[in-house]
Amino acid sequence: MTPTLPYLGGAGESRSLLAGMTFLEVTESGRIDLAGLSTWLDEHVVATGCMTRPSVVLEPPAGTVPLRPGTGAVARSNADLPRIISTARLRVVDALRGLIASPSDDRFLRAAIFLGRVRRQDGRWVARPEATAPLSGIVLSLFAVPVLSERTFFDRQLCVCDNCGRVSFDAAPGRRHTCPEHGVRVSGVSQRALPASSPPESSVMPIQPASRRSPTEPPRKTGMTPR
Ligand SMILES: [Zn+2]
Repeated sequence: MTPTLPYLGGAGESRSLLAGMTFLEVTESGRIDLAGLSTWLDEHVVATGCMTRPSVVLEPPAGTVPLRPGTGAVARSNADLPRIISTARLRVVDALRGLIASPSDDRFLRAAIFLGRVRRQDGRWVARPEATAPLSGIVLSLFAVPVLSERTFFDRQLCVCDNCGRVSFDAAPGRRHTCPEHGVRVSGVSQRALPASSPPESSVMPIQPASRRSPTEPPRKTGMTPR
């Protein structure tokens, strides 16, 4: 269940990143229930001292559910939860995607600082979301800690897949908007497009012979075999 994460300088930064990434992992299927969300909160937010256990989970305008509903309200709360989770998840992924957009959009960092959800403590950034913070605000405050501390790393390695929204890390160039699953397909497309979109030699040559030789087939260059 623990995502493979890069090593970051400080334990606090690594713990915050792990907390945020774990949220994305456990909510990916969309089938996490209230007990599962409670466990994530307890392990990654409450036990690490970021905030005291909230009594409700909210994500306006998707809704609010009590974390420990009375026996009669459990089913109702679990029914309301998916919309809250998916709204929060989408906001988190969109905010992270902003970091790798051009021009980059890091408003979530400034918002987190402005709202006091991240702050400096003993020379380090720490997440301190308020008890009434929306779920997305809690998760983004967790991500804000490592991003504020190691921005260059995120600029170089953060990947948010355009296809599926998966957040991952990859140092290889050209991977910022893909994921391990969809990266292959995307690079395959660009490789197939390569011979057609690289006619510098034939454009130098007269057009007549080339079109007489093969009017229907694309020109094959023996020296150029795409991987
Ligand atoms: Zn993907």
